[in-house]
Amino acid sequence: MNVTILGCRSGMPAHGQASSGYLVSIGGGAEETRVLLDCGPGVATALSSLIDPAMLDAIVLSHVHLDHCYDLLPIGKSLLAKGLSYPTAGRPPQSSVEIRRVPLYVPAGSAALFHRLAALFPVTTVPALDRAFELAFDMHEYDPGDYFTVGSAEVHLELLAHAAPNCGVRVSCADGTLAYTGDTGRTPALRTLARGADLLLAECTLSEPDSGPHGHLCAEDAADVAADAAVGQLVLTHFGTADPDWLEASRRRAAVRFGGPVHIATPSARFPVRSAREAML
Ligand SMILES: [Zn+2]
Repeated sequence: MNVTILGCRSGMPAHGQASSGYLVSIGGGAEETRVLLDCGPGVATALSSLIDPAMLDAIVLSHVHLDHCYDLLPIGKSLLAKGLSYPTAGRPPQSSVEIRRVPLYVPAGSAALFHRLAALFPVTTVPALDRAFELAFDMHEYDPGDYFTVGSAEVHLELLAHAAPNCGVRVSCADGTLAYTGDTGRTPALRTLARGADLLLAECTLSEPDSGPHGHLCAEDAADVAADAAVGQLVLTHFGTADPDWLEASRRRAAVRFGGPVHIATPSARFPVRSAREAML
């Protein structure tokens, strides 16, 4: 398993860096499984530099904040485009397409929001374009605690602590386990999410511990989770800055509290997710 950073910014894209998005790939060749975790602004562009979105086996959203989901619509329209013809005189407007729908897992209660989003920009000559979340995606609402299978991976959703309901995503396959926090404050559930994971991809939004109601982590918080859950390595992400000094200072502060490798997420960086036993082979 590998995880590739598509976007690592909190909030909106900046300095040429997209908001949250991570491409998980498992195996290779015809059997490769590809899962997109979160899909903030800029992620559609970053993803398109690596693969055609039709190659995705699933998309999983941690929560419905704009910086984690806004590029679902452009990705959906890219998928739709494969089944569309340019409107011509004498033919009725195309209102449907025949394409493979990409499974999309969204938090319980949020499907209606995405249908409304797709309908906000009507294309009267091609009404199929207004139905991205019906025609391009096979949308499932998940509940915290759910498990499901995508190709060779098992995915588990763990409710964490954020201003909007946010589930951390645990992706397990034969050769490793990835735990991704999405957005969260400190909560005991982080230990459940990350227990024994080979790689913890943890948000690191703040410079110091959160004292408010929103729910974010700082470097020390992420490191404490990594140590407590005995993960193999820690990758910090979801930054409000691209300042190399701030990022390196965060990495160093985390490394004081967690004895394993600590990395900083950067666009296009690719991290192997392997169990310690696999890594030795
Ligand atoms: Zn959020």
